[in-house]
Amino acid sequence: MNNYKHILLGVDFYENCDAVAFRAKELAAHYQAQLSIVHVFDSLPMTDASYGMDMPFNMDVTNELMAGAKKRLSELAEKLAVPASNAWLEMGSPKAEIIRVAEEKQVDLIVVGSHGRHGLALLLGSTANGVLHHAHCDVLAVRLQDN
Ligand code: AMP
Repeated sequence: MNNYKHILLGVDFYENCDAVAFRAKELAAHYQAQLSIVHVFDSLPMTDASYGMDMPFNMDVTNELMAGAKKRLSELAEKLAVPASNAWLEMGSPKAEIIRVAEEKQVDLIVVGSHGRHGLALLLGSTANGVLHHAHCDVLAVRLQDN
């Protein structure tokens, strides 16, 4: 089997995400692979359509959340010695965006946690499950214990 050349870490900044990040870092060192990071921003505030009332889309809150996500991503990239050009912030559905980025950047291994924000009650979280089922490359789900 060929060595992995480009590893993509999917990070949600939830509890335990450092364990997933360091596993991806170790694998990249082991295979002498390039390491990239993706965080998908999916925390859009409710719009009026959600509650059927006139609640304006709050751009200030969105911008603030986005700035926080950017900051955490750049701090993590620094900690893992990943260049800023390989730390990507995307918007949309986490599993769809992780898969899209992996294909676009010709990644050959995706590393995610077994559980994150959407997975505490499940054997495998919904993002991890979706990525595992639809990715065209290998996927490693780092086992995280339930808290
Ligand atoms: P979940 O399946 O949502 O419980 O999350 C499992 C794993 O998927 C997390 O540990 C992350 O590695 C990855 N993941 C979840 N949400 C995101 C996100 N918004 N951006 C990037 N990766 C994510």
